[in-house]
Amino acid sequence: MSREVLLMGPGPSPVSQRVLRALSRPLLGHLDPRFLAELDALGDDLRLAFGSSATLTFPVSGTGSAAMEAAVVNLVWPGRRVLVLENGIFGERLVQMATRAGGDVSRRTYPMGSPVDPEDARTALRDTGAQVVMVVQAETSTGVLSDVGAIAAAAREHGAQLVVDAVTSLGGMPVRMDEWGAAVVYSGSQKCLGAPPGLGPISVADGALAARPPGTPAQSWYLDLALISRYVGAERLYHHTAPVSMVFALGEALRALREEGLEARWLRHRRASSALRAGLAELSLPSRVAPAHQLASLTVVRPPDGLDEAALRRELLLTEGIEIAGGLGEWKGQAWRIGTMGEGAALGNVLRTVQAIARVLRRAGRAANPAAAADAASVAWQEAQ
Ligand SMILES: *Cc1c(COP(=O)(O)O)cnc(C)c1O
Repeated sequence: MSREVLLMGPGPSPVSQRVLRALSRPLLGHLDPRFLAELDALGDDLRLAFGSSATLTFPVSGTGSAAMEAAVVNLVWPGRRVLVLENGIFGERLVQMATRAGGDVSRRTYPMGSPVDPEDARTALRDTGAQVVMVVQAETSTGVLSDVGAIAAAAREHGAQLVVDAVTSLGGMPVRMDEWGAAVVYSGSQKCLGAPPGLGPISVADGALAARPPGTPAQSWYLDLALISRYVGAERLYHHTAPVSMVFALGEALRALREEGLEARWLRHRRASSALRAGLAELSLPSRVAPAHQLASLTVVRPPDGLDEAALRRELLLTEGIEIAGGLGEWKGQAWRIGTMGEGAALGNVLRTVQAIARVLRRAGRAANPAAAADAASVAWQEAQ
């Protein structure tokens, strides 16, 4: 057995004992009424997390990218006008998927490290006449929050269906699907929800699939929401075998979310990220993101100048047992991405992380004080609101 690793990267995040126990429960059949009752309860808990009243709210079988693909292939068909508001690699992934689905895709690109500009998005909606607009709320490649509320208002003005990627926000930061009037919001099980990777929660507004021209089913059979809704809904018609153990695990993680309460959970994530940023600042590792656009679930800093950042992360993993991630795309080699997601968003984990980073920096010959970093983090945890 490998030593337990503290997962402080951008997902997967640490999983609690109660969720691990749920994974090892004896199986039920995917049509067993007791399993279906659990799936229904999981749907209720997801509605709470999504701020959604949508009937079709369930975990897609597959990771966050499967939920993303389900959103795209069900709302995009050949010739449909799609606008992607892109400020990092997950927005770029939406462009790829929408293009493969045959959409007439326009994109607005914002610099790495910046949010989507809602006014510019409004202009783009007008200029393109987009029927669908897609945005990543929390861009995990850069650690940037975009103002989905403002973008949603522009989408409503132009009668465009809104798709929101909430993979790195759901369960850690406010997601308000009904208030936004979004058509589809999706996420992943392994970020702020605190379950292992393998399910992609999705919520599909009632009527959102109605615009699809008759006789043109979604390009993907497996991800066809019209077909899957016949299993998730009252008909209980077999489509594919539900990943039973993963449903148990996510169900348990969401019960923990309901017990904690959404507001308390969001506060815990804010406190953890403030503590982390303060500890890292003490180690001369400043945030790459302006305060107004920082995430509570992921902190992105500039790695130390003049050192091999990949070697430092490797040492952190192999000698300190803590995983963090490097940069992606244009930010490869120029960012450290450190998560405070789900169970990871706790003061103890933050203290362990900043102290371990300080030790690694020290061994590389830098002046770095583990105790000072921990003190700064503790003070920020106390002060955060
Ligand atoms: C992680 C992530 C995804 C993809 O999820 P996978 O589980 O890796 O397939 C999509 N969007 C965002 C914003 C993410 O952070």
